[in-house]
Amino acid sequence: MVIGCGGVAQVAIQKCAQNDAVFSEICIASRTVSKCDDLKKKIEAEGKSRSKITTAKVNADSVDELIALIKSVKPDVVLNLALPYQDLTIMDACLACGVHYVDSANYEPENTEDPEWRKIYEKRCKEQGFTAYFDYSWQWAYQKKYKDAGITAILGTGFDPGVTSVFSAYALKHYFDQIDTIDILDCNGGDHGYPFATNFNPEINLREVSANGSYWENGHWVETKPMEIKREYNFEQVGMKDMYLLHHEEIESLAKNIPGVKRIRFFMTFGQSYLTHMKCLENVGMLRTDPVMFEGREIVPIQFLKALLPDPASLGPRTVGKTNIGCIYTGTKDGKKRAIKIYNVCDHQECYKEVGSQAISYTTGVPAMIGTMMVMTGQWKGAGVFNVEEFDPDPYMEALNKWGLPWVVDENPVMVD
Ligand code: NDP
Repeated sequence: MVIGCGGVAQVAIQKCAQNDAVFSEICIASRTVSKCDDLKKKIEAEGKSRSKITTAKVNADSVDELIALIKSVKPDVVLNLALPYQDLTIMDACLACGVHYVDSANYEPENTEDPEWRKIYEKRCKEQGFTAYFDYSWQWAYQKKYKDAGITAILGTGFDPGVTSVFSAYALKHYFDQIDTIDILDCNGGDHGYPFATNFNPEINLREVSANGSYWENGHWVETKPMEIKREYNFEQVGMKDMYLLHHEEIESLAKNIPGVKRIRFFMTFGQSYLTHMKCLENVGMLRTDPVMFEGREIVPIQFLKALLPDPASLGPRTVGKTNIGCIYTGTKDGKKRAIKIYNVCDHQECYKEVGSQAISYTTGVPAMIGTMMVMTGQWKGAGVFNVEEFDPDPYMEALNKWGLPWVVDENPVMVD
């Protein structure tokens, strides 16, 4: 069962339908069931999949509604492709029903002014040293409960986190005895022709990008001002781009799961127009996540902004160019220093031709299907809560090649200073 039918879910569901030997039945559920019905009709009209597709209406903020739906559909796995706000309610419902859970983004609360959440958040900022609204502690706290229930939760199977984390496990398994540094580079060389639009959910995207940056070094977090650290990098098949250091969720899990790693950084490319628009929106208060009164009713500015911006799912036909996302590793093998880069290049228009979406949805939706397949087929199993780098990377890496995200290992990569 897939919760959500937005940009990412539409790709993941079409890929599940292509992989009908594993996904013989798919239930698509969100609050707007008409969107789920439209996708079901599209897949059925193509006539290529033997998956039986059903749809349902569910508000995933309600654990009771989710439990009722899971009990009636009886899925093997629930793939959560709603928003990070729903991670905990969906995890609770899976736990109550004894069903495996998979997602692509870690928990963050919808209202960051909520005093109860804020207290825990502020304590974490002090203890951990990073101020992002999202972190893994909320979901890692389910470890014992999932273990006791004998079910699996897989966190973060998109591209980043997800593929970048599996790349890291693969690098450690096949190329290094010890990884010292990881630089994750996320480049979108695509152009959609709008002055300003985000490639995935605007609310989540703008929250992430406008926050402080941070990186992991020698056992602790180093925090930076938003966009403080800038580098230029020449990306294969894309060209020279400006990229900026951001806080990103896989840094937190890789710091825990890659033994002895000394530094982990995450960079994302942005054009000047995007940054200028974002700064202006931030300056006028449009990125605020707390409710404000407007003409007698409460509105949340960032949600209002989302309503004005192009729907990321509609960018497919107009986006041209390529993404290049991957990781540079340094470390040692057999006593010798080495550096490698593992990356994927994905073409926006090729994605559009295949599934009607741009490459950001594609590069997230395909790994969401693959992570779910790993659980469905038992290639990844275990009771508890896991990040993807904790499993054997080989079957996942093979599946990336097979299902549309082929990767390359460069043993002489251009480094980031
Ligand atoms: P969209 O906003 O396009 O879609 C979100 C979907 O969630 C919609 O279909 C919406 O449907 C559904 N939804 C929202 N609230 C609820 C609710 N209360 N109950 C049920 N369904 C709900 O988002 P994207 O597809 O762009 O992103 C999906 C997820 O993927 C996000 O968590 C995002 O952070 C993550 N992501 C991960 C990446 C990675 O590489 N790891 C990269 C990009 C995105 P409706 O309104 O009808 O309920």
